[in-house]
Amino acid sequence: MIALSLAEIAEVVGGQMHDIPDPSVSVTGPVVRDSREAAPGSLFVAFVGERVDGHDFAGAAVEAGAAAVLASRPVGVPAIVVEDVQTALGALARHVVRRLGATLVALTGSAGKTSTKDLIAQVLRRKAPTVFTPGSLNNEIGLPLTALSATEETGFLVLEMGARGIGHIRYLTGLTPPKVGVVLNVGSAHIGEFGGREQIARAKGELVESLPSAEEGGAAVLNADDPLVRAMASRTKAKVILFGESGEADVRAENVRLTDSGQPVFRLHTPSGACDVTMRLYGEHHVSNALAAAAVAHELGMSAEEIATALSEAGSLSRWRMEVTERPDGVTVVNDAYNANPESMRAALRALAAMGRGRRTWAVLGKMAELGDEALAEHDAVGRLAVRLNVSKLVAVGGREASWLQLGAYNEGSWGEESVHVSDAQAAIDLLRSEVRPGDVVLVKASRSVGLESVAQALLEAG
Ligand code: ATP
Ligand code: MG
Repeated sequence: MIALSLAEIAEVVGGQMHDIPDPSVSVTGPVVRDSREAAPGSLFVAFVGERVDGHDFAGAAVEAGAAAVLASRPVGVPAIVVEDVQTALGALARHVVRRLGATLVALTGSAGKTSTKDLIAQVLRRKAPTVFTPGSLNNEIGLPLTALSATEETGFLVLEMGARGIGHIRYLTGLTPPKVGVVLNVGSAHIGEFGGREQIARAKGELVESLPSAEEGGAAVLNADDPLVRAMASRTKAKVILFGESGEADVRAENVRLTDSGQPVFRLHTPSGACDVTMRLYGEHHVSNALAAAAVAHELGMSAEEIATALSEAGSLSRWRMEVTERPDGVTVVNDAYNANPESMRAALRALAAMGRGRRTWAVLGKMAELGDEALAEHDAVGRLAVRLNVSKLVAVGGREASWLQLGAYNEGSWGEESVHVSDAQAAIDLLRSEVRPGDVVLVKASRSVGLESVAQALLEAG
């Protein structure tokens, strides 16, 4: 963080200083919400959670070196006391970001935010020091904490923004106003909470509405292949840059194919030239993510050649997303257990099919959460797709939704032993341990709440 005195912080957040002997002491960062991460110069932010109250750890944070605590009541150690800690954290982030020289890039979408954010960061950091959202910390707490980790040296600040409803993105862009805004896609994630795709598009579009005008340098990077995203061009004053396979896209991929190991290869076209890209990431869905990253980098002054090299070298920075591991006996485990929605299920199944050419393939799938009224149809469609892609074995794990996955497979003509329904992760582990053979490829994927990473872990340990 840029250094700020406790007195300045108190003023910015409208707080009262308690038990602070010297208000001129500086906070240099990091700003943390976990007392175990506190270090000399830290600011510890005390949130009241459902199970734990951060205020109980204020003493531990100060003992570990924290300069003070941002709290909602006095805690007997140096504290800046405010009415609402989250609001204060946001105000502090807004203040600090204004003083930074960094260019802010924000992205949102239904699927692929974290993957794309990691790609953007790996491309941009070749040009200047880049700070980016760790993992998926994309909400009203994670976003300001990330922004506060930037320093004077930071050239680019890349922020993932998540939306669970109307107004969420507007709140986030109010804290950290981006210059470049990227919208990836409008899918069915959280559709139950939103009440329809149009509503999701309305919520995500708040990102491009927040951007500065083209004259002021604002740029909206939009997916030309997604009609609801393409239409957001009319909701922004910023310059519009389109990416996708569509002919009208400014940044395009041509001759897209997957290698035998499921890694995308394509020719990248940007307005500054064309270059070949061979990705290290798995699955064709990363082509769209790579194009979004390329469009951002192009807008920020990088050449097609620099971008293509960076994309070809980029790895996965976040866990359990298409994490491919070879067991010594030749079994390939594809751990995509981080999360699932209909779009990412389809992308993962296609990658499995590409990787499994000539090999036996297993799709170990669990429910896709939060689909509301579309849940039955979407699970049925995934079960059907597994059969159409000739996946050798479908293992549907869990309750009702798993039975819908299996039903889809049945409906597509798979009646035999190709699809099984097991009650939980342990049952899946038992089945796989006895039936997986050397040379098989096993994909493991479901929504976060199902916790299928235990299945991937067990498979790796069995090898
Ligand atoms: P969250 O809302 O949980 O933060 P996210 O939008 O950050 O999710 P990722 O974590 O990047 O998304 O990916 C989630 C899942 O979607 C992964 O299984 C990944 O393989 C898949 N995925 C990534 N990019 C795309 C894409 N462009 N289209 C469809 N699925 C994708
Ligand atoms: Mg994410």
